[in-house]
Amino acid sequence: MFVAFEGGEGSGKTTQSRLLAIWLRDQGFDVVQTREPGSTKVGMRLRAILLDAVHQGLSARSEALLYAADRAEHVEKVIRPALGRGSLVISDRYVDSSLAYQGAGRALDPADVERLNRWATGGLVPDLTVLIDTPPSVGLARLGGAADRIESEPLEFHERVRREFRALAAAEPERYLVVDGTLPQDRISQIIHDRMREIMPD
Ligand code: C5P
Ligand code: MG
Repeated sequence: MFVAFEGGEGSGKTTQSRLLAIWLRDQGFDVVQTREPGSTKVGMRLRAILLDAVHQGLSARSEALLYAADRAEHVEKVIRPALGRGSLVISDRYVDSSLAYQGAGRALDPADVERLNRWATGGLVPDLTVLIDTPPSVGLARLGGAADRIESEPLEFHERVRREFRALAAAEPERYLVVDGTLPQDRISQIIHDRMREIMPD
């Protein structure tokens, strides 16, 4: 089973994906917890390029291609092998991040970004995507001004990203769980556990 976490800056998806991994391991599941960008050797170098403020102004197409390259490595070297072994895979970010950030955020044609990523992943789609939906003003404030290249984009950029995440979830409600990211952490975990219980293998 493959679960992806998505959300904007400071939404708490990293925390929640960690907590979910712990909860599942406690029940005896073999869990591979991973993230994008940067979960492979090449991916770590791509992450450094993508997040370095030095590369402010990187062309939108280059950015989309580098994220897609990172994801292709991630799927081929980490996610598919883990799923093949029967592990439960939890990824902090996946394709929706590109649809939201490179598509809506950078104003690339969403159909292009979608096609590029379908190719990059060989069409691998999560069984469940958890969207931690948080207003950008709240998320960015939580980060307390620690800004990488993308976090320093204007609020309007982050609003477009949020709208796209929500639109993706609304189009496929059976494959998404949208959780209010302003709820207390343990309440968010509970909501995620409830949904997981419905779809988990025995
Ligand atoms: O999830 P994390 O904060 O580690 O992501 C690193 C940065 O990469 C974030 O600032 C996020 O906005 C950005 N990102 C992006 N496009 C993606 C994935 C991540 O702009 N497809
Ligand atoms: Mg970040």
